Amino acid sequence: MTFNPIVVQVVIDKPLAQGFDYLWDAEKLGKLPEVGIVVEVSFARSKAIGLVIKVSDYSEYEFSKLKSVDRLAPLPPLDPALLRLMNFASQYYVHGFGETILPSIPKVWKKSDDWEKIPKKLELAEKKKRKEKSPISEGLITVEQLNADQKKALQELLATGQKKSHFRAILLQGQTGSGKTAVFLNWLTSILKEETAQVLLLVPEINLTPQLERRVKAYFPEKKMALLHSGISENKRGFAWYEAMTGKAQIILGTRLAALTPIPNLRAIVIDEEHDPSYKQQEGTRYSARDLAIWRAHDLKIPILLSSATPSIETWLAAQSGRYEYIRLDQRAQGASLPSVHLVNTRDSQNQFSPGDLDAPKYKSLISKTLAHAITKNLEAKKQTLILINRRGYAPVLSCSACSWLSKCTQCSVCTVMHKAGALGKRSVLSCHHCGLVTPIPSFCPECGNADLRSLGHGSQKIEDAVEEMWPQARVLRVDTDSSKKSKGAEALFQEIHDGNVDIVVGTQMIAKGHDYRNIGLVAVLDADSRLYSADFRAAERLFAQLVQVAGRAGRAGTNGEKSGDIYIETQYPDSPVFQYLLRHDVDGFMSFTSSEREEARLPPYSYQALIHAEGKSIEKAIQFLSELKGRLKSRGLIPKELKVYDPVPKPVMRVAGAERAQLLIESVNRKTLQETLEKLDQDLRQDSQGRVSKTSRIRWLIERDPIAV
Ligand code: ADP
Ligand code: ZN
Ligand code: ZN
Repeated sequence: MTFNPIVVQVVIDKPLAQGFDYLWDAEKLGKLPEVGIVVEVSFARSKAIGLVIKVSDYSEYEFSKLKSVDRLAPLPPLDPALLRLMNFASQYYVHGFGETILPSIPKVWKKSDDWEKIPKKLELAEKKKRKEKSPISEGLITVEQLNADQKKALQELLATGQKKSHFRAILLQGQTGSGKTAVFLNWLTSILKEETAQVLLLVPEINLTPQLERRVKAYFPEKKMALLHSGISENKRGFAWYEAMTGKAQIILGTRLAALTPIPNLRAIVIDEEHDPSYKQQEGTRYSARDLAIWRAHDLKIPILLSSATPSIETWLAAQSGRYEYIRLDQRAQGASLPSVHLVNTRDSQNQFSPGDLDAPKYKSLISKTLAHAITKNLEAKKQTLILINRRGYAPVLSCSACSWLSKCTQCSVCTVMHKAGALGKRSVLSCHHCGLVTPIPSFCPECGNADLRSLGHGSQKIEDAVEEMWPQARVLRVDTDSSKKSKGAEALFQEIHDGNVDIVVGTQMIAKGHDYRNIGLVAVLDADSRLYSADFRAAERLFAQLVQVAGRAGRAGTNGEKSGDIYIETQYPDSPVFQYLLRHDVDGFMSFTSSEREEARLPPYSYQALIHAEGKSIEKAIQFLSELKGRLKSRGLIPKELKVYDPVPKPVMRVAGAERAQLLIESVNRKTLQETLEKLDQDLRQDSQGRVSKTSRIRWLIERDPIAV
């Protein structure tokens, strides 16, 4: 018998363009190699977890120089469709294949010391899961109960769905509370009739999963569900991922990371709130879970449904042009009308307390008179009030009344936020929301010794104080990441609201989305203007989506004919298009207005963008690094005329945790040209780099495709 060595190519989680050859000893390892197997190998004098991407009997290197694969993970191979998806992601986002795919495997499966124990662990997890109280199921709306609009929507979904194996992208657009969820869950019912079929259901935020989980349970009491999001313990997530990748779980419900799960019998995908920026990963491979899910559906020839009240401009245009199927729900499911929108012009003195009625000058300036009166009336009507303020903490900065000192982070180019006692520990502190540094509040000004330090501006804590003082009889609850960490978690806080134990809720964007409250009569938005104008061209689109979302919390349970609720928005710019379209509940008008603005300015989706990030010890060096890069592109004739390469600039927050950061924006009307340029750029950058750090200038770099904030 001739000796026939088996060579496998293995990728690991490092910013490397290629994989490495290893020998495969089938006898020692107990089986033949397959693409998709997770292995342990020796790499640079230590151990690394890798993935087999190729099997052959050939290597460019001498066999005697090759090391052998050490061990195998107790997992079936990742399925070929997932490898195709990851391969696409790696190319499109110009990121190494290994560093794209390996981070998507849950940590428990990458601890090789535990591999022997895993079968036992799985058994235990299975037992534990069976014992766990299954979530209460609620919110089942059967096909018979659907209203006429919903029935029509469902029929459209089912109509072409019977043709096997073909790709469909469908936008389901309908105002908040129009019953979109009820429609797509009924649609999934028909897909899940096939015993082995699996479906993937994505939600933008962890906080939205418990509610949807309960609803899914009501529709599919018999099916196994795998929950995948970062709020779940590593062990549980590893188990859920395993159940998905082995086909044991039929419903995979999770946040953006769930989009990268191996799901061998995937038959349909639903993306709830498809416009939400949380679908964009902002570290590592900076992917868009929505875009990857669409690619995946296309690759698998299955349907994908995108659901939203305020679709992204990209999706909306695709539906308008007929590239996606377009299904609309135009009535609120339970007959309630839409909330009335009130714009409170804060520059108009009639809307403000006059000095005469300022009996509590400390706080009355924080809430306009018009809004305060509306809140009082709403309380009298025994309805709940929801106040949205998009900033946690007490105040965004502390200042000295005698000199110009402001509380600034020592490591970042931003001010530190003041948090009152109780939020981040027993005492009041200053906290940096960029690097996490927490410092005690100084008793005296560090510059001049003055003891009179004052907070400037306001965050959720200060508004909470204001509300408690202005309506002492009301029960007030603050909902933000600080308060949800302290108590039993966000879910417990939401329950308090549901149970009617609260009169006024003061909350950050956490409360704006998805939750189906029963008795909210008034929604107030205090800081809309801060998000109206910003360097980011998507600011208005985001604000509009958020206002529609939060408005949707008002009066969801209003019955036919009953007035549904009010939303008050304090602003200095009531005439701006965002507010005017909102006033008329004209989502399509806003979309169409925004898309023509984009078209005129040649901004996405009418062009494609990429950012090159650079960070190092000094901003000058980071800028120089990018300038030289641009210079090289130019001199080598790599900037075709469809491509626009801007000059490097410092990032909006220039310094974070000691690193100074710059960026270079590249824009093209042609996707392919951009892709080609990025690939060349990547090669160029790698030539002088160790991983992703330049050897000569010590600058760390990263390429980002389709950035969501520029
Ligand atoms: P969306 O996903 O569009 O926000 P949901 O499906 O969550 O809408 O529906 C909003 C509310 O109306 C939920 O409480 C839901 O249970 C209820 N609902 C949906 N469809 C119906 C229906 N046909 N009849 C009665 N209630 C419904
Ligand atoms: Zn001072
Ligand atoms: Zn900082």
